[in-house]
Amino acid sequence: MMKIERKAIPVMEGLWKVEADGKPYLIGSRCEACGEVFFPRKKLNFCMQCHEEYLEEIQFSGEGRVLALTKVERQPAGGFYKGAVPYTYGIVQLDEGVNICSQLVDDPVLSVGERVKMVVVKLYEEENNDVMTFKFTAENSLVRGEG
Ligand SMILES: [Zn+2]
Repeated sequence: MMKIERKAIPVMEGLWKVEADGKPYLIGSRCEACGEVFFPRKKLNFCMQCHEEYLEEIQFSGEGRVLALTKVERQPAGGFYKGAVPYTYGIVQLDEGVNICSQLVDDPVLSVGERVKMVVVKLYEEENNDVMTFKFTAENSLVRGEG
């Protein structure tokens, strides 16, 4: 029998990359004209803030703090979400100043104002693939991620 190799695939292309040392970072855009930063990366070279066309791709550190969080108890409507419930969802302000919505690692439970870092973890399994996503966990957490 042929052995099918298990692959880790991102839930969506272009959200993050992993450096050679295994540390993941988020990919965004910055406007060279006004300095505004965006996540996720803008596909069009157009700044929604100043309407100039000087966007460059940047790396976010993946570190920040929790602005708000909530527990999601039920599967969101629409059928696009295939991960486990319940899960913790929140707004994280990255150190670069942009606020992003993201799942948060449930253990240990985070609180508002806490320092966090991104990790890449398995969201669900699909056929022979592990579908990966990024989440945020406590800055001092030992969770290294699986991807
Ligand atoms: Zn701009």
